[in-house]
Amino acid sequence: MKTLGLIGGMSWESTALYYAAINREIGKRAGGLSSAPLLVHSVDFAPIAEMQANHDWQGLGDAMADSAKRLEQAGAQGLFLATNTMHNVADRIQAASRLPFVHIADPTADALLADGIENVALLGTAFTMGMPFYKDKLAGRGLNVLVPEVNRTNLSGIIYNELCKGVVKESSRQVYVEAIEALKSRGADAVILGCTEITMLIGDDESPLPTYDTTALHARAAADFILSE
Ligand code: GLU
Repeated sequence: MKTLGLIGGMSWESTALYYAAINREIGKRAGGLSSAPLLVHSVDFAPIAEMQANHDWQGLGDAMADSAKRLEQAGAQGLFLATNTMHNVADRIQAASRLPFVHIADPTADALLADGIENVALLGTAFTMGMPFYKDKLAGRGLNVLVPEVNRTNLSGIIYNELCKGVVKESSRQVYVEAIEALKSRGADAVILGCTEITMLIGDDESPLPTYDTTALHARAAADFILSE
């Protein structure tokens, strides 16, 4: 099996989900006591979130390039970045290392297209919903992406103030259900949980639209990489 380098800690709550999901998938596919050969570089999220708030994407790119180099030096054979938002600096990771890198939006787009979905809602942080990097990537794969027109600050605040700290509230689930209802009425046929913590709050049982969970889809792609020749 190949050794995967995972850049995590953004937040550690979702990195823990990746860790469990990748290992479960390897156990299932490889059998017996098999588990995933992993190197995890888990950063302190506080300064990262502060740089995000200050729109210091240069500093954020420096931090991710540093993580990529450390993982490569430690023996990783491929790199995965366990957050959607930080893919805004995916190019810095790719420039810092020659290792293969799988963008989180690619396995997500693959799953949507395989199910014949074209019009998809995107929920995530204010950066992921508001900036072009993620929507453009999905549009480049042939998807028509809808983001909430209202309440984006609240949806994003729930991620940083609650989910990244492991807090899951019914009132916040309701805020997400209402946002998905509004996107459904605008023509979305499915919703991308485009932040790696949203899966803690909502899934197919509660969502008015079928959910595409980026954490699970990216973790499955990580298992594909680990088992690839
Ligand atoms: N994990 C989140 C995401 O997937 C948000 C935390 C971050 O800003 O990295 O976007």
